[in-house]
Amino acid sequence: MINQQIVDQLRFCLEKGKKISFLVGAGISAESGIPTFRGKDGYWISGSKNYKAEEIGTYKMFSTASREVWKWFLYRKCTTERAKPNQSHSILKELEEVLGDQFALISQNVDGLHRKAGSSDERTYLIHGDFDFVRCGDECSKELYPFPKEISLTNRNKNVITEQEWAALRCPKCGEDLRPHVLWFDEYYNERYFKLDSVLKISKHTGILFIIGTSGATNLPRQVAQNVLAKGGMVVEVNINDSYFSDLLEHKKKGVVIRSKSSVFLTELKGVVLALV
Ligand SMILES: [Zn+2]
Repeated sequence: MINQQIVDQLRFCLEKGKKISFLVGAGISAESGIPTFRGKDGYWISGSKNYKAEEIGTYKMFSTASREVWKWFLYRKCTTERAKPNQSHSILKELEEVLGDQFALISQNVDGLHRKAGSSDERTYLIHGDFDFVRCGDECSKELYPFPKEISLTNRNKNVITEQEWAALRCPKCGEDLRPHVLWFDEYYNERYFKLDSVLKISKHTGILFIIGTSGATNLPRQVAQNVLAKGGMVVEVNINDSYFSDLLEHKKKGVVIRSKSSVFLTELKGVVLALV
């Protein structure tokens, strides 16, 4: 699966101090039982209404029906709370230990599983936010707060938020609704919350980028891949399905597409990297 071209590029990166970067998405967490945000698992039924994730996961919806949005998020948060990191998360953590500052993990996953697996906050760039934090929905400050402990994440009735829980979802500074610290479908990337500039900088210093388990539906992942190619780096897509990246890499000299489950690929990659360092 890992051909000589990839091995040579890894060796080159290690010798020249180039970044070895990983851009990962929902495919990494699928083996931990986390459903994807989009598609059939993203629906939310409330009363007679049936929302798509793209409708309820928006600032527009939050600003008019924050309680409904929170019900949906708490339901999702319960799923991630129960989930355990899988082999892919563990190998990414081990690769970080081996590669040190040459390693960068850019993740679209908000489920907290990289942290649970032991990946460092310093080298992990959570470009779509982090379920483990909340912030003021009114932006009275830019501060992130840990997810409130008062919220029960086991045995919850998905249609009910108690008054005690609702009180815990008030901003401690201004009293407005707190919001989940995630990038909603109608919002834009920025540096403060989503490390936009840092990630673009990393992409320009990346000698090889592994894109694993993401369809590349949003624009920052696409920009990262394009930047790496533009600077002469290699981009390797690992996905069981076709994606935007498969098309992007099809006729590129430094583009490789591998059809594999993430855990199978990463196990092989770990062996290759350990033999090179
Ligand atoms: Zn506030």
